[in-house]
Amino acid sequence: MTSVHLPANKPAVVDSVAEVRQTIAAARAAGKIIGLVPTMGALHEGHLSLVRASHAECSFTAVTIFVNPTQFGPNEDLDRYPRTWQADLDALAREDVDLVFAPQAAEIYPPGFSTFVEPPAAAAPWDGACRPGHFRGVATVVLKLFHLIPADFAYFGQKDFQQTLVIRRMVADLNLPINIRVCPIVREPDGLAMSSRNVYLSPDQRRSALAISRGLNSAAELARQGEQRPDKLIAAVRQVIDEAGITQIDYIAVADPETLEPLTVVESTAVILVAVHVGQTRLIDNYLIQRD
Ligand code: AMP
Repeated sequence: MTSVHLPANKPAVVDSVAEVRQTIAAARAAGKIIGLVPTMGALHEGHLSLVRASHAECSFTAVTIFVNPTQFGPNEDLDRYPRTWQADLDALAREDVDLVFAPQAAEIYPPGFSTFVEPPAAAAPWDGACRPGHFRGVATVVLKLFHLIPADFAYFGQKDFQQTLVIRRMVADLNLPINIRVCPIVREPDGLAMSSRNVYLSPDQRRSALAISRGLNSAAELARQGEQRPDKLIAAVRQVIDEAGITQIDYIAVADPETLEPLTVVESTAVILVAVHVGQTRLIDNYLIQRD
């Protein structure tokens, strides 16, 4: 039997399947409650909020950094996706993370790899329609990470609202023994949702991009005042986005937060979903309406 030792240094940084399995086995043997935070790196406070949520209920936190090629379309930003390895590692060390798993693509997708997860129905509309294959890639890599790091809890951001539904459904449908936690969207002080892609924005574009959260706030305010018609809420978002000169809108939708089907009337809950392009940069954001 191989001996199991928890790594002496924090974070332990590993890049192979063998090492990550060994480290997690040691953590399990030591009776740790394991939290997993999957990321694509270029870490910001949104990611770190997930780490803190894990620390709050787990005794061992693993962060993965992997820019997953299968979730990028052929004309998307895989090659130029920001990579800030040393800064990420420093931030994770400051957060007292136990394990960082940062594999190369070939470790996750060795030659001959050809098995994919067929994602659930929630993957079809909105981002699924705009980014064919995206959620297939997400579901596949997340399932692999859940196998490699059999955690008690995994933490995801509401920022990627549709992704959280896809993952929750996959976990339920495939009986995966893991609890999914969804954490609130972390924003810049001026309202822009934090995203690794925000670094692509020029100062002018960044100012325009503020219209996304402002538009969502304006629709949220209408909803608070009792507006129940989705078209009115959508128009409120669109107006602010139009005024900012953003012309490429993938979608502005008011949908059921469980099924993502478009709503005809907003009763107790709804999610307003937005995806736009500001210059070359695709940005998403959302707002969850919850009435008592
Ligand atoms: P990414 O590195 O963009 O794949 O994101 C990794 C995780 O961080 C996902 O679960 C995201 O939803 C989450 N995340 C990204 N941005 C934010 C944010 N602004 N607030 C909260 N969570 C976020």
